[in-house]
Amino acid sequence: MSLFNKYDYNKHKNREKLFLLCAFILIPIYIGLCFLLFLNKRDVVAVTMDYKGEASIVLNNNQPGFTEEEITDVSFEEYGKLDELGRCTPAFACVGADLMPTEDRSSIGEVIPTGWVQNRYPGVVDSEPPFIYNRCHLIAYKLTGENANSQNLITGTRYMNVEGMLPYEDIVADYIKATGNHVMYRVTPVFEENNLLCRGVQMEAYSVEDNGEGVCFNVFCFNVQPGIDISYADGSNVLEAGMEAAEDATVGNITTEKFAFHTDEELLQNADYVVNRNTLKFHYKYCESVDEIYETNKIYYKGSREELIEQGYVPCKRCNP
Ligand SMILES: [Zn+2]
Repeated sequence: MSLFNKYDYNKHKNREKLFLLCAFILIPIYIGLCFLLFLNKRDVVAVTMDYKGEASIVLNNNQPGFTEEEITDVSFEEYGKLDELGRCTPAFACVGADLMPTEDRSSIGEVIPTGWVQNRYPGVVDSEPPFIYNRCHLIAYKLTGENANSQNLITGTRYMNVEGMLPYEDIVADYIKATGNHVMYRVTPVFEENNLLCRGVQMEAYSVEDNGEGVCFNVFCFNVQPGIDISYADGSNVLEAGMEAAEDATVGNITTEKFAFHTDEELLQNADYVVNRNTLKFHYKYCESVDEIYETNKIYYKGSREELIEQGYVPCKRCNP
């Protein structure tokens, strides 16, 4: 082999190496990018990971993913079947005024969604009692009037429920009430792998009669609770390192300290009365009015009737406790 030929041969070898290198590096990158684009078009899982202090973020320039075929001005509501792990799947609706509830919501306490590891964080979670989790409706009660539908209730932090989802639910409800128009509406809980608690929910909405002029959004709300570390695998939660829980919160003179149980169900079982912190009325547990009290306004009280009256609470006229 002449020197020239050897050089040529090596050059050829190098080209082959270069080609293989390209194949091994570029093709996986290309496939990865395609996959990311695919995810981005569908559930936008790729962007759900990092909470940076905003309760929700905009996806896809706020453009929802409804297809021409999906958009309709006829009201309907569909709640996806629970998956093999018992987790909620997307809830999808064309919300019209005809689907909106005319009655107050009733109890949803019998539904235990996946990832439901309830704990109280006085001074950290801004509600009373300071439970970290709410049963979050995928499609809000005020939109379709679904109560204890297990296909529409997920474990969501108080923060996601109130700071994340509520403002968007209000936009949709207010628009429908004002116009009588329809809104395409889809809420997709985003679970990673086999996690029982979702990382958050994607919310999409599009007003039909005015082609999105009135309502048009595509957002992701984070299932986080500032100050608390959450394990998404099972929903378990602990106070963040460096955070301190406050003294147990009080409402009026009622200390909630005696109600340190783990779930609403247990609380209810152990309580003597249920107090409405909003109306300052108290009830027997079985009173029908109790079902009408918003979960966040309920105080499960263990103690005597006299104690309550002393503290300024008024017995309900319906159940006469
Ligand atoms: Zn009552």
